[in-house]
Amino acid sequence: MSDVVIFVAVFVGFFILRAVAATVFFLYLLPAGDHCPNCDAVTLRIESPMMNRLLPMFRTSWCYECNWHGLLRRGPLTPAAPSEVLTKLP
Ligand SMILES: [Zn+2]
Repeated sequence: MSDVVIFVAVFVGFFILRAVAATVFFLYLLPAGDHCPNCDAVTLRIESPMMNRLLPMFRTSWCYECNWHGLLRRGPLTPAAPSEVLTKLP
């Protein structure tokens, strides 16, 4: 096996390993659930057909408190609070 083939195999192998390691690292860096990573408010799920088709394991979210938008990992969701109208009834 020539030196060029060995060099290319090692170089491509390290490149692929680096891409896999970065993907796994950033996967676990994303917060799970529906809370905003900036202000910890509950985010809203938004429809993004292309991203939801490409990455179905993530949740496309938007925070209406700080206008953050991005991807979150699927996780436990915050239960919906009862509306104020219902809580003010006698
Ligand atoms: Zn926010």
